[in-house]
Amino acid sequence: MRGSDIEASRLTYFGLFALQHRGQESAGISVSDGENIMVYKDMGLVAQVFDETVLAGLGGDLAVGHTRYSTTGSNRWENSQPVFRHLGSNGIALAHNGNLTNTATLAGRVGPVAATTDSELMTEAIALEMTEHNLNLEEALATALPLFEGAFTLAVMDTSTLVGVRDPHGFRPLCLGSLGDTWVIASETAALDILGATFVRQIAPGEMVVIDDEGPHSVFPFAEAESQLCLFEFVYFARPDSTLYGQNIHAVRRNMGEHLAEQAPADADIVVPVPESGIPAAQGYAAATGIPYSDGLVKNRYVGRTFIQPAQSMRDHGIRMKLNPMPGELAGQRVVLVDDSIVRGSTTRQLVSMVREAGATEIHLRISSPPYRWPCFYGMDTGDRSTLLAAGRSIAEIQKFLEVESLAYLELEGLIDATGTAATGFCTACLSGAYPTEVPTTGDKYLLERS
Ligand code: SF4
Repeated sequence: MRGSDIEASRLTYFGLFALQHRGQESAGISVSDGENIMVYKDMGLVAQVFDETVLAGLGGDLAVGHTRYSTTGSNRWENSQPVFRHLGSNGIALAHNGNLTNTATLAGRVGPVAATTDSELMTEAIALEMTEHNLNLEEALATALPLFEGAFTLAVMDTSTLVGVRDPHGFRPLCLGSLGDTWVIASETAALDILGATFVRQIAPGEMVVIDDEGPHSVFPFAEAESQLCLFEFVYFARPDSTLYGQNIHAVRRNMGEHLAEQAPADADIVVPVPESGIPAAQGYAAATGIPYSDGLVKNRYVGRTFIQPAQSMRDHGIRMKLNPMPGELAGQRVVLVDDSIVRGSTTRQLVSMVREAGATEIHLRISSPPYRWPCFYGMDTGDRSTLLAAGRSIAEIQKFLEVESLAYLELEGLIDATGTAATGFCTACLSGAYPTEVPTTGDKYLLERS
């Protein structure tokens, strides 16, 4: 965010708090007082990293914040963001959402630096343009950005300028808002709501919005490309109270449940969501079928998303802490269990077993997205194909593995229709295998840490 006479770090803190669901490994804020950039970041949740004392020491009216969910580089302090690069009397700080697909090529081009993430490599490439060609931040970005391939939504700042960037495919969202004479960019509109800021517009794929003393202006540094917004933003990533391409995410998820009910009805007594991500689709399914909705699983509100934590051991442990079935609701019932997706399947299998132990007589599993069969290279850490339950398995085989009476996934056409924005180009690679860019055939998220 950029304004005048504002406590930018405090406002950014509240924005990060609203976007905590996008990453829980580390949190950070960089702030400029017009002359110097200060960066404070640490491992943990936003509320664990920042307190009044820390924020009081981060004075200035230009700030960038980040919460990390790692897709390149391990979960450690050195890889937390914003990435900062000192440049004489200036400096740049960069926050990145997404994942590059040409990290190895970029590492070769940037030369020998101690980078362990794609985000550091991007920062280095921008800094090189600034130092070697004596360019300002806007000019350096316009030159460096076309070197990057894959998914990169960026918030970048120097001591005086804030820049928001969406890669030419626009895999990840970014919006522009205003709060008096302060300009705000954020991944989701919910962050604007929490600040009391007014939504101005989505930043377009391939657009770079530069915010300086004159306010915002747009630059388009990339060759034109097809828009490929991540379809999983609608299914899973985004907050239900966010608006994306004019559509409220909660309403879209309800639509998904209604489409699923039409496509795969079940003879059952109750519809139970897997909270929280399965709730709107279960509501839609219940409304469309007339089967009563029941909160048969209770979520501990203070445990984060199990799926987003990288280590398998943490995920296995996480499900038991997170969800508790209620026998009073489930015993003797034929249950339609609704979730938004199945990636690895281990969590779902445990969940099914817990619902069965609570007394359900039949479990009909309904998933409000198609089978997740291909790894994501654009910002979702799903590992390789061997970790994906649906890769190479038929629906009947998956049903058998999960031990449910019936299983159905929402078809891709129904999912896109449910978004209400079918004209928007979507990335569907993890569901269809159709990758919109070249993807790496070698290497993994630790590529730079081994080199
Ligand atoms: S592969 Fe799937 S999760 Fe990754 S960007 Fe594409 S739609 Fe989203």
